[in-house]
Amino acid sequence: MALNLPRKVSVLGSTGSIGVSTLDLFEQAGVEVEMVGLTAGRNAARLAEQALRWRPQVAVIEDEKALPELRERLAGSGIRTAAGAQAIVDVAGADAQWVMSAIVGFAGLAPTLAAAKAGAVIALANKESLVCAGPSLLRRAKMAGGAIIPVDSEHSAIFQVLDPEVAGTVSRLILTSSGGPFRNATREEMAAATPERALAHPNFSMGAKISIDSATMMNKGLEVIEAAYLFSMPAERIEVLVHPQQIIHSLVEYADGSTLAQLGPPDMRPPIACAFAWPDRLPWPAPKLDLVSAGPLTFQAPDPERFPALAIAKQALAAGGRAPAAMNAANERAVAAFLDRRIGFLDIPNVVAETLERMGRETAMDFTDGDAVETARETDAAARRVADQVVTGLCAA
Ligand code: NAD
Ligand code: MG
Repeated sequence: MALNLPRKVSVLGSTGSIGVSTLDLFEQAGVEVEMVGLTAGRNAARLAEQALRWRPQVAVIEDEKALPELRERLAGSGIRTAAGAQAIVDVAGADAQWVMSAIVGFAGLAPTLAAAKAGAVIALANKESLVCAGPSLLRRAKMAGGAIIPVDSEHSAIFQVLDPEVAGTVSRLILTSSGGPFRNATREEMAAATPERALAHPNFSMGAKISIDSATMMNKGLEVIEAAYLFSMPAERIEVLVHPQQIIHSLVEYADGSTLAQLGPPDMRPPIACAFAWPDRLPWPAPKLDLVSAGPLTFQAPDPERFPALAIAKQALAAGGRAPAAMNAANERAVAAFLDRRIGFLDIPNVVAETLERMGRETAMDFTDGDAVETARETDAAARRVADQVVTGLCAA
């Protein structure tokens, strides 16, 4: 049976961990794609190498200073080059049928919205865009006749096992978490943690920002918000379960007492394959799950004392309005400050909580309003300023 696969595709954030996994999946599955655009932040060398292999119409680099190098490396190839945030938005909104949204952070929002408006099927890795403007993003995709298929492994798991026909009978969504590198660490060890130690994820290598989010468990906090929007589920019916082996990617509990789970090896290519071929299944030489060698699967409850980020995220979700976007911005600044060795590891959730406190939660963001995205942008900018002040205060103390 011939598969109905997308042909014209773009990969936003192609030089990152998810971007590279996406191109590797295409390679291994031997799919024939017509590449519309490849985009990167500042790594011109890697972007040029990918462009020479995948022959996109255009290769876009966000950092304008890297454009000369990109041009030089692609000279004579016939591949167009461009630079800047707007050029990325333009390629995201071009005519690809399938767009991998794998830019990290709030920077992914505008391109993802452009792809949604263009009616593309969006494979969404960039969870931050849903956290900051989830309802608007989902509405725009729906209105334009496109779709958003989650790539985040937990949400891909839920997407695969949640039958929309009986969504009303779901009692709980249970998101699994590896627990991160500090699952068994003491508070003292966490307080003294260096970026090198925090970046060492137990099961696989990811971009720096999500690795730190995984260590603070803010990643799971962002994912709770992501799940709430994607699956229209209130915060109190979304739970987090620590499962260090990362074999069970999440679970859906139904009212009749049945719980369905999705399993797979800890590898991002299967969820990317799922988002690429859905509702078909892409054949490729996938690493198969070997439950015998995986050994015992274990579970534990997350520790709210050492991982306050989870509760902060749930509160932001419950507060609604601007709170999730402000939380995300504060977290991005706090993670950057930690990576720059300006603040300690345990300061990260404190900066986020203090930023939310200072910003107050009185101004609601009305998601039915067409300006919700503009409000998310203003909130993001304001929260960054406040978070930077909180960081500066900590550094002076
Ligand atoms: P990464 O840091 O490895 O890659 C990020 C990509 O975005 C790179 O191509 C980079 O050049 C580009 N980029 C960075 N800043 C940019 C900017 N300002 N403008 C344009 N492009 C920019 O990150 P990653 O680990 O691949 O994660 C990407 C997204 O996927 C994140 O939102 C992350 O939360 C999500 N995600 C990642 C994983 C994973 O296993 N890595 C799993 C689930 C979800
Ligand atoms: Mg995840």
